[in-house]
Amino acid sequence: MPLNACELEIDLFCHGLRVPDDVSLAGARGVSRTRAGLGSGLELAIPAGSRLKREIWVNAPVVERFATLSPYRLSGGPDRYEIVDDRDATRYAVRLPPEPTWYARLTSREIPMHRIGVLQGTYLAIYANPTCAFWNYSPPANCKFCTTGQNVGPNEASVKTIQDVVETCWAAKEESGITFVHLNGGFQGSKGLEFITPYVKAIKNQVGLLVGVQLAPERDFTRYDALIAAGVDHLSFCIELLDPEWFARICPGKARVHGQSLYFSAMAHCVRRMPYGAVSGEIIAGIEPVAKTLEAIDRITGIGAFPTVCIFRPTVGADMEDWPTPPYHEMRTVMEHVYASCRRHWLPVGAAPNIEVSLVVNPDETALLAERTIGFWAYEAYRRIARLAAGPVFRRRMFPAA
Ligand code: SF4
Repeated sequence: MPLNACELEIDLFCHGLRVPDDVSLAGARGVSRTRAGLGSGLELAIPAGSRLKREIWVNAPVVERFATLSPYRLSGGPDRYEIVDDRDATRYAVRLPPEPTWYARLTSREIPMHRIGVLQGTYLAIYANPTCAFWNYSPPANCKFCTTGQNVGPNEASVKTIQDVVETCWAAKEESGITFVHLNGGFQGSKGLEFITPYVKAIKNQVGLLVGVQLAPERDFTRYDALIAAGVDHLSFCIELLDPEWFARICPGKARVHGQSLYFSAMAHCVRRMPYGAVSGEIIAGIEPVAKTLEAIDRITGIGAFPTVCIFRPTVGADMEDWPTPPYHEMRTVMEHVYASCRRHWLPVGAAPNIEVSLVVNPDETALLAERTIGFWAYEAYRRIARLAAGPVFRRRMFPAA
């Protein structure tokens, strides 16, 4: 039985994708490793069925060792691509989105725009702050799955001025039709929120986009209030793992400097001050026991935030590069739970326009895994109404203020 689009997305994250030498990727988005390294795969879009009229975006792992052993193989060429499952010869039509022409353009500081930001799905991703400070610790305190310290500088500009960012946002908005830019920056001591706030103001005032920020939590919560006042639309907190021992082992810097409770209290503070559904908690599935991942999802939704769940990817160059990827059936269980947990808390997931994230299974995509019950249809009707009602609000928030 063929997998549906969300199931295929999960299995691609677990197995990766082989790209034979004779398959041309001409015109497709290049494979590059920026930010934490999660987006170091091949960007593709899977049709989710004619009734849904949408595509599911996946950044499929292609360069990692496990991907070379994948049962999935890309076939075809620029006119029509397919993914073939060599276990049973099932074929899935996919689309390889083209590389935006603005990638090669220069900012007024003569920096190629792809070194400022890249598309990851339908949104623009920018690592805006200086390199995460955990990479400068001795011994290193970086999260073991992360490669930020190897990417910022070699693969992307280490300094991105506000002007660089504004110009790149403009190009991505005008030419790629983006609605959302995500700014992240790891751990910056107590200066991360202060540093990023003028970037948020400039994008809101001069470009007019929805803006998300993801930084390690800070103890002075008034800085979140200032960021919200500056117009930020989304805040996310990377808790990564719930089990304290796994957290300390995989994220030594976060465990030593922040502790898990700070992530939850900062998240709760922002949930109280932002519209329902504007805050998220990010975790990684496939490292700690699944029961802990399910518990983490419920902790996040219980606060009133939505869960963003990354399937563990042993990225090339990371300390965990030789670790195994998680099994499909466990990840399917996790993603089913994402849907059930969001539904239990009536989280309006998927309400924002045109935000398809290729690095994770988006919470609204997990609807494809859910049983069709009365509760399912009631929640889907609610989500539809929430999306329609939020339309004018988001349009207003995407209007440049200056
Ligand atoms: S906080 Fe951890 S995951 Fe985030 S950039 Fe720093 S080392 Fe990487």
